[in-house]
Amino acid sequence: MRHFSFIRNPSPADIGSNVEQFLRFLGGPACLLLEGDDNSRTRAFVTLLHGNEPSGAIALYRWLTSGQRPAINIVCIVASVEAALEAPGFSHRMLPGVRDLNRCFRPPFADAQGELAEEILEILRLHHPEAVIDMHNTSGSGPSFGVCTHMDRQHDALVSIFTQRLIVSNLSLGALMDISEHSYPTVTVEVGGRLDEEAHELAYEGLCRYFQADKVLAQGDTDWGLELLCDPIRLELNEGVSLTYAERASERHDITLSLDIEHHNFGSVSADTQLGWTSSPEQELFSALDSSGRCAVSKLVRVEQGRLYAAQGLKLFMITNNAAIAQSDCLFYAVADDGSTICS
Ligand SMILES: [Zn+2]
Repeated sequence: MRHFSFIRNPSPADIGSNVEQFLRFLGGPACLLLEGDDNSRTRAFVTLLHGNEPSGAIALYRWLTSGQRPAINIVCIVASVEAALEAPGFSHRMLPGVRDLNRCFRPPFADAQGELAEEILEILRLHHPEAVIDMHNTSGSGPSFGVCTHMDRQHDALVSIFTQRLIVSNLSLGALMDISEHSYPTVTVEVGGRLDEEAHELAYEGLCRYFQADKVLAQGDTDWGLELLCDPIRLELNEGVSLTYAERASERHDITLSLDIEHHNFGSVSADTQLGWTSSPEQELFSALDSSGRCAVSKLVRVEQGRLYAAQGLKLFMITNNAAIAQSDCLFYAVADDGSTICS
């Protein structure tokens, strides 16, 4: 291992008196091994793949200071510690000039971020966990949800520990779950907005359930009935298209999105819902591919008389209000209004 440090059963006295001191104690990418009552089994908890998403690190810090012991062994991977510590704290998704770590979980693992990703996969292989939870925050405010690449009773049970909403998506972006999934049931949990106290609370409560439960892959009688959102399509900006967020059309940008666009997160929009303004045709501005690889831009948005509308009844989520993230990642994900796959 080249990047990760390994820490076994850290004592509450050593890990600092707040989460920032905890990260300084870790000093860089870290793997914490927490011994459980039953040490014949292991679960994995991964967090801070993105340095600006604090809920998982805060929850883990709280757990460690509580002095509790998990039901089975837990291997905790805290990845982008340096990015999180870069001032102001928890503001950098990654350090400038490096790749998004959660897009690096596929070969080639040539650069430093690729090496980190490869080491994380190596750690998982070594410990062979019965389940993997990868905890994130969304950049904007919004409700919690889980993401997995396919759906069965095990994933259903695993997600239900944290939230009632599940996105089933096979976009193969190079995220940890895309590859880890082949060996262990893996779920990405987005606990809510990175600045939301509620998200930190859910992260801790969910983490406690995940660490303390005897079984996490089988649901008891309390089937919550997950809300399922299948095969979302990403609306991406084309190269060189400029974007801003404002209350009215900005002449200096190709697209202006409404300031309150995040309010549509997980809500339904109709063909009458205005999302913003633009004077260019939608095909010039956006890219979107459905699951069979066909262009789906016209299924998502339409431009009429300088205004940008939803193209049909849709459910939108992971809407960002951050132009840099919209440009480097995507503006939002969409499924048909009833949660089903959009087909071209
Ligand atoms: Zn993230």
